[in-house]
Amino acid sequence: MIASVPKEAVPGERRVALVPDLVPRLAKAGLEVIVEAGAGVAAGFLDRDYAENGARIEQEVIEKADILLKVQPPAAVEIARMREGLTLIGFLQPYRNGIEIRALAERKATAFSMELMPRIARAQSMDALSAMSTLAGYKAVLIAANRLPKFFPLLMTAAGTMTPARVLVIGAGVAGLQAIGTARRLGAVVEAYDTRPAVKEQVESLGGKFVELGLDTKNSEAKTGYAKAQSEEFYQRQQERLSKFVAGADAIITTALVPGQRAPLLVTEEMVRGMRPGAVIVDLAAEEGGNCALTQPDQEVERHGVVIIGPVNLASTVPFHASQMYARTVTNFLAHLLKDGRIHLDLNDELTRGPMVTHQGEILFHPGRSG
Ligand code: NAD
Repeated sequence: MIASVPKEAVPGERRVALVPDLVPRLAKAGLEVIVEAGAGVAAGFLDRDYAENGARIEQEVIEKADILLKVQPPAAVEIARMREGLTLIGFLQPYRNGIEIRALAERKATAFSMELMPRIARAQSMDALSAMSTLAGYKAVLIAANRLPKFFPLLMTAAGTMTPARVLVIGAGVAGLQAIGTARRLGAVVEAYDTRPAVKEQVESLGGKFVELGLDTKNSEAKTGYAKAQSEEFYQRQQERLSKFVAGADAIITTALVPGQRAPLLVTEEMVRGMRPGAVIVDLAAEEGGNCALTQPDQEVERHGVVIIGPVNLASTVPFHASQMYARTVTNFLAHLLKDGRIHLDLNDELTRGPMVTHQGEILFHPGRSG
């Protein structure tokens, strides 16, 4: 079987779905690996690195694929080039890509969406979302530090003593915890809040202070480990009680998400108005509607003296390690699907069935299924 790795077509996407080091693993599993010329260049992986590891470099790879490894969802023109019945693995963003998912079903593709990987112990090494969140949390802090008109650390110099920056992290999941660790390493004083009370200990172990809002959060975590949506009334009370902490922060990193839903609105315009001039908000939920009311996806805006940045696809700005981590999760998943060099599907296995969005002409993904 041929496993193909195309160059990603989405503008600005610098990651690649397979790195040279992992080619021998697929070859050993019985696959022939074809990589599109230049596919890894933007991430720092050259054609010759792939070739030295046993891949063939070609110009057109999509049409030859029995297994297609991608980062971004395929566009209609790419789907049109696919063989019928191929296996596709990538971030397919099924919540917002209904048309492409239908086209994949018509192509009789067996398509797996890495963001639907179940959160079970067996799937931990295949958890691409967590891997990308780690990168985003790290980079968000660097963006905030770069934009803040202050130092992050406490500095005692001959020219005086500079107090450390105060960073507030809202949403302390994978990205938030990485943001806390990164901000601490830069010397900031860090506070963090999450609706899931289980997070408190993790925040403290990273040197952050957990913010207690005194809200009823008994029912905040789904069986999947993700947050559950809360009532409007809850969000309103959350905003009121967070205001004081928001006003005291120099930099805020927001990461709060609820799968399949608009991101919860946690920082209102009124709260931004109460912040210090020069303060920075980096909103990692920008693509899902934003945790701050003033966030514009992929833009930086300045309101009431506060800079609000809504970066999208931060993982792609660290493409070398993002590709390495993503490729590792994808090959681990592919290894799970392979038996004697062929795709072997056990539809009763939740690890196989969970991320599957199309199979034998049918759409298996229905919004609201996970979370
Ligand atoms: P996520 O990206 O969906 O959400 C980010 C964070 O926002 C979560 O911690 C969530 O609780 C929080 N949040 C949601 N609504 C909020 C609100 N109104 N106010 C404040 N915070 C809010 O989640 P994630 O970071 O991918 O993962 C969440 C947790 O799942 C992790 O911390 C981890 O414990 C668990 N997890 C388990 C596995 C596994 O078992 N394989 C893998 C990854 C993560």
